[in-house]
Amino acid sequence: MFHDNTISPGISWYEFSVAERPTYPVLHETKECDVAVIGGGFTGLSASYHLAKAGLRVVLVDGARFGDGASGRNGGQLGTGQRQWVEKLEKALGHERAKALFDLAEEAKKDILELGNKIDLDYFPGQLSLIHKKREIAAYQAHVENMLRYGYDQLSFMDRKETQDRLGSDFYYGGIRDTGTGHINPLKLVVGLASLASKAGAELYEKTPATSLEVKNDKCIITTPDGYIKSAHVLLATNGYNQTLRGFVDRTIIPIRSYIGATAPLPIDSEILRGGEAVDDSRFVVRYFRKSVDNRLLFGGVESYDKAVADHLADRIRAQMVEIFPKLSEIELTHCWGGTVAITVERMPYIRDIMQNVTYCGGYSGHGVMLAPFMGKLYAESITGKGDRIHSFKELKISPFPGGKTLRRPLLWLAMRFFALMDRF
Ligand SMILES: Cc1cc2nc3c(=O)[nH]c(=O)nc-3n(C[C@H](O)[C@H](O)[C@H](O)COP(=O)(O)OP(=O)(O)OC[C@H]3O[C@@H](n4cnc5c(N)ncnc54)[C@H](O)[C@@H]3O)c2cc1C
Repeated sequence: MFHDNTISPGISWYEFSVAERPTYPVLHETKECDVAVIGGGFTGLSASYHLAKAGLRVVLVDGARFGDGASGRNGGQLGTGQRQWVEKLEKALGHERAKALFDLAEEAKKDILELGNKIDLDYFPGQLSLIHKKREIAAYQAHVENMLRYGYDQLSFMDRKETQDRLGSDFYYGGIRDTGTGHINPLKLVVGLASLASKAGAELYEKTPATSLEVKNDKCIITTPDGYIKSAHVLLATNGYNQTLRGFVDRTIIPIRSYIGATAPLPIDSEILRGGEAVDDSRFVVRYFRKSVDNRLLFGGVESYDKAVADHLADRIRAQMVEIFPKLSEIELTHCWGGTVAITVERMPYIRDIMQNVTYCGGYSGHGVMLAPFMGKLYAESITGKGDRIHSFKELKISPFPGGKTLRRPLLWLAMRFFALMDRF
């Protein structure tokens, strides 16, 4: 039922929750197509589906198996709006552009819910965004009001008492309840999107890494260990993995490992998240958790930039969880796993034409569950001449991470240690 994932650590609980995870062949020949897609996560699979549905010849390769990147292993939380709140976007971009980005995110959410009619996603409504520092209360209250200006009336502010009742813990100062979003099983979305893409006519290959990508005489040429793909366009949907093609986006995409642990099923009468909502908090290094369909707590929040954390992962996840839910100090963590999140300095997606006819879509900064499939659709829209809404993302300023090739990693490590420390005060 499950397999050995070569690019992300640990076997996830999701592996046991899908009835079937079909395999796709390895590419052993030369292919010609209209669009070649590198990366079979939400972005690549969704783009392939929409492109093939529009009648284009599509070939997708993934170096691992579909979903082995972030898409099949994440927290499953949809959220509302972009990763950055509208207040911040409005300051940087003005109301009109901030509103346009908000509306696109709402459409992305609607799309996922509609996909739920074709794919069983285990969708469950409700999201609590919780306040970790007392001084953040006013900003959270104001956010509920500000969202009304964006036409979004599904938020309500929760005081400490209501938060405690809904969460089953008095750890947070309050928060926002969002009844207009929810959470899904992400691996089911991966499996479903792959099936839709394949049925629409896209050719899908797993365990086929793209080892080089070049553009010659208007043709894009992708090399794989045992084949070639020649195409008019390429979508680079490698997100934070970029196995062999890292050089293309190395300066702007910061890969960070995030880890999740699944507990044994909680007692049926547990007071934890009685309403079944997903939770994220106001830390810089966000803690995020929710219950699974079989009543486990799926708890994320440990991050790392090296492999050392994997050695004592369960202890570190448990320590964070028990801070919030002391009663869970003895509960077994039955599964622990990680994946790579692609972060940008601005914490907004990095969507760019990086060479002639080659577009990179990624860097969703921990907000890709609804945005990545949608970006695949917007990419397809732009290629098939149906619109250029992806431009709203292409024109976002995304800064290179400082430090150059040698200093970037140590600087990042220092920055994240600093922010993790600040979360404590
Ligand atoms: C632990 C964790 C928790 C998260 N929680 C949430 C959450 O709750 N909500 C949310 O919105 N977002 C969350 N995210 C982020 C979200 O999962 C991602 O934004 C989203 O899945 C990105 O999808 P993608 O298709 O762009 O990339 P990925 O799913 O990362 O896929 C990239 C694919 O590219 C392939 N690849 C790389 N290089 C090559 C190559 N050279 N040749 C061929 N294939 C290649 C990889 O094998 C991989 O399959 C989380 C991420 C992680 C890791």
